[in-house]
Amino acid sequence: MANDKIYVIKSSLPNYLDYINEIKDLWTADRITNVGIKHRLLESQLATYLEASAVRLFTNGHLALESVLAALDLNGEVITTPFTFVSTTHAIVKNNLTPVFCDIRNDNFTMDIEKLELLITKDTCAILPVHVYGNICDVQAIEVLAKKYNLKVIYDAAHAFGVHVDKHGISEYGNATMFSFHATKVFHSIEGGAIATEDLVLANKLSSIRNFGITGQESVDYIAGNSKMNEFQAAMGLCNMRLIDEYIKSRKEVVERYREQLKGIKNIQLQKEVPGVQSNYSYFPIVFTEGEEIRDKIKSVLEVHQIYTRKYFYPLTSNLKCYENFDPGNTPVAEYIACRVLTLPLYPELELAQVDRICKIIREEMTR
Ligand SMILES: *Cc1c(COP(=O)(O)O)cnc(C)c1O
Repeated sequence: MANDKIYVIKSSLPNYLDYINEIKDLWTADRITNVGIKHRLLESQLATYLEASAVRLFTNGHLALESVLAALDLNGEVITTPFTFVSTTHAIVKNNLTPVFCDIRNDNFTMDIEKLELLITKDTCAILPVHVYGNICDVQAIEVLAKKYNLKVIYDAAHAFGVHVDKHGISEYGNATMFSFHATKVFHSIEGGAIATEDLVLANKLSSIRNFGITGQESVDYIAGNSKMNEFQAAMGLCNMRLIDEYIKSRKEVVERYREQLKGIKNIQLQKEVPGVQSNYSYFPIVFTEGEEIRDKIKSVLEVHQIYTRKYFYPLTSNLKCYENFDPGNTPVAEYIACRVLTLPLYPELELAQVDRICKIIREEMTR
């Protein structure tokens, strides 16, 4: 195994025959997309697993997010974080809304609630925070602010499938929560995504919005595109649902091993685990507090050993060329973390011996 390449992520696949069995009855089913049997079953299994009143599936997480922002009829400014995947910011701007970038906390890299309140203006219509790396935002504090200023809250939970806080499914918070089921995520349907919500009116509107805005045989009430999940995607989702608890358990073991093996190395900061949060261990970020240079050096040294890591999230979305005409805001902590963070390989099949090897290389390089 020692010479095998280790990538940052590896898609979890069910047993080949399990998938074949799952898709078999599609050959006699009445449809292979447009909300068929697999789709309906996956939606109901997810509602149970995520403890959500309603779940609506989409062809991917990004379109789920774009669609829910459209469904909420928003206008004006949306406070969000630049420390995310570009999808979050794109979803706001594609809806003709203005992103207002809020800084993050230095300990768990989620939105800094104290700074958030200072950014609220008469034009603010919503907050779009991101649960990062399987850890979650201060959902209680965000709820209080949203009530106080009458704002909608939409969570990007692409990293937080199945995460619980104090035994509650996270989609209980906010107006809606987006999950991504992309092949690289903890739970996947090849490509896929969902909105989970407690708002049944919103859920029904999303059913139309994902299907051209069609509301009846001869009625179209909204101008919308096509973002439906097909039956082959849903079948993969059903197979992975049977394995999800195992996947998360294996990830937990890998993360615990990393934490143990990296202990005591100076100038390395790990993401703080928030009390009461039951993580899904979706990513393992480490922050090199000495700066960008050492982060980049460790990344190249690991590459020499055919171990591939990722600067994730870097750069901040507010620094991307496509956002050069937007106000980047004042986000020094996000800037600091983005320039120093590296996510290490993490997937259920990663062997603990491989984790040890990765940590040994980092330790040697850091104590040189
Ligand atoms: C993966 C991801 C998305 C987009 O989800 P897709 O299913 O790939 O469209 C959005 N936001 C974040 C934070 C992500 O990690």
